[in-house]
Amino acid sequence: MPNRDWSHLLDIPTFPADRYASVAERLGALMGTRNDVLLIQAEAVVALEAVATSLARPGLSALNIVTSPYGTWFGNWLQRGGSDVVNLTAEAGRPVDAQAVQAALDANPGVTVLALVHAESASGILNPLEDIVTLARARGILTIVDAVASIGGHALAVDRLGIDIAVIGPQKSLGGPAGLSALSISPKAWRHLQRDTAPRSSILSLMDQKEQWLDTGRLALPGTPSPLEFFALQAALDRIEAESMEQVVKRHDLAKRATRSGLSALGAQLWVEDHAASALVTTAVLPSSIDRDTFLSRRVIAGADLSPGVGPGTERLIRLNHTGPRANEESVLANLTAYSRALDAADQPNDLDQGLRAVVEIYRVPKS
Ligand SMILES: *Cc1c(COP(=O)(O)O)cnc(C)c1O
Repeated sequence: MPNRDWSHLLDIPTFPADRYASVAERLGALMGTRNDVLLIQAEAVVALEAVATSLARPGLSALNIVTSPYGTWFGNWLQRGGSDVVNLTAEAGRPVDAQAVQAALDANPGVTVLALVHAESASGILNPLEDIVTLARARGILTIVDAVASIGGHALAVDRLGIDIAVIGPQKSLGGPAGLSALSISPKAWRHLQRDTAPRSSILSLMDQKEQWLDTGRLALPGTPSPLEFFALQAALDRIEAESMEQVVKRHDLAKRATRSGLSALGAQLWVEDHAASALVTTAVLPSSIDRDTFLSRRVIAGADLSPGVGPGTERLIRLNHTGPRANEESVLANLTAYSRALDAADQPNDLDQGLRAVVEIYRVPKS
């Protein structure tokens, strides 16, 4: 059991200044990049806002892919800074189609920046990241990827794909703390960021981070670092590295396959096809006769985590959470049991035995 005496969190020593660089490098390794990695002392949405704020300027033309509220916010931040933003909004709650991206790029030849989210916890979808980054790179377009949810749940090969800016957070699939985040920045992205009118003396200024940390030998971070967050991040990195990133991704893939197989066997309807499904949460569509709030009020099973979808198009969706420490057989079984019990309570026929059997079957296949 975790130690619930929170007074242990008081009076802790400062995080050693010479360890920030190694934390950044370890995060870079998980992201598959040798680019500069900046540490942001705030949750990941702040890192995303810092990227948009630091890049935005009048005359910049961006294609912003919207598959959840995070994408909407990103486009708004770019616009706030005077940029021209073309929002490509996918069908509500669905992944974007790479062909639609190609058409939007063809129709907007002046675009120099493209932004998208890799995998969405809000709706349980996975965007075709590699196809889209390839399209952008062929046109010399700078790519920005929100990999906050996906890191650890899906393979993220920043350098192999050539992603210019990738933003991550430790608190989703990596099972770490929520109070800090990180981003990788390619040399090409630095050329976009380095300009006289770039924001300075701001918590959202990436140039401040560069000048006050990267360019000064990567010792003390600007501001007052929270040792609690950094010790927790270090522990999360230790745990991930001990398991290996490859295995962490496999564990999420297994939880995804087991959940999807279990839901299908139970008689539930999955929201997206396999190739378009995230490995973080699985979304199921509620039968139209069932009221979602009533359904969710009956989800109480120990170890289960069911929640409503978030954002437009998700009004009929239920998310079964198998992210991070929850990507395991026990959580998958608990989720499925809770789902079935809530269907029972609504007099909706379903077969829990078949569902549980399907889950166990997936986990029984020997590990490769
Ligand atoms: C969770 C999440 C964020 C925001 O992260 P916070 O740490 O909650 O600010 C951004 N983008 C995506 C895709 C996310 O899943």
